[in-house]
Amino acid sequence: MAKPLVLGNWKMNGSIPANAELLKGLRDWDAKKVELGVCPPAVYLPQCQVVLNGSDVRWGGQDVSTHPEGAYTGEVSARMLRELGSHYVLVGHSERRQYHGETDALVAEKFKVAQAAGLVPVLCIGETQAEREAEQTLAVIERQLQAAIDAVGIAQMAGTVVAYEPVWAIGTGLTASPEQAQAVHAAIRAQLGDVGAKVQVLYGGSVKPDNAAELFGQRDIDGALVGGASLKASDFLAIAKAAV
Ligand code: PEP
Repeated sequence: MAKPLVLGNWKMNGSIPANAELLKGLRDWDAKKVELGVCPPAVYLPQCQVVLNGSDVRWGGQDVSTHPEGAYTGEVSARMLRELGSHYVLVGHSERRQYHGETDALVAEKFKVAQAAGLVPVLCIGETQAEREAEQTLAVIERQLQAAIDAVGIAQMAGTVVAYEPVWAIGTGLTASPEQAQAVHAAIRAQLGDVGAKVQVLYGGSVKPDNAAELFGQRDIDGALVGGASLKASDFLAIAKAAV
């Protein structure tokens, strides 16, 4: 089993001076026990590369195009992310699915293209409040995960990352209870079969310094994808330390 991973999703936040301060607070992280990474807006990847190069902290994109290059205004390719030293890329974040109409098929294609380019894709999956209330949680998770498995083949899931992020817990202050999260993580691991031990399954959704340890104490929770709390170095590092 790989070591835990704590990954920050800055979403559309940051500025050059604010990033400089934040990255300065992170770059001495020692990744011996816990891997740490940040996913800034793509325009700030060069700044991350300059500040984090030579450190243990990795960086990556928040989205990727399915196309290699060409007339796709506003898109960023997997090769471009690699060129800027990216290690990870998020695919299928619920905000992309919700505001940009990304389907399971499109997300699966992004997952495949990212992996083929040498990036570690982080597949974000999760149910809405309505789906949870309709007891559809496990069916939704299974469908979203299966689309990626079908796109690359089960063996190729090894070395990738899956982030379970209940949509109702993202940026809301609501968190799945450790038991609720563990139940979904166990289902994800089971669906991955023999490859399950080689996939890091992260939890995301209002992870904070005061709830991280309890979540990380669950058997199938291998780390976290952190939004709001990743914008403050002390909070983000406190979460990462809870995974040690
Ligand atoms: C996210 O954006 O992936 C996320 C989990 O956000 P937050 O931690 O703010 O809920």
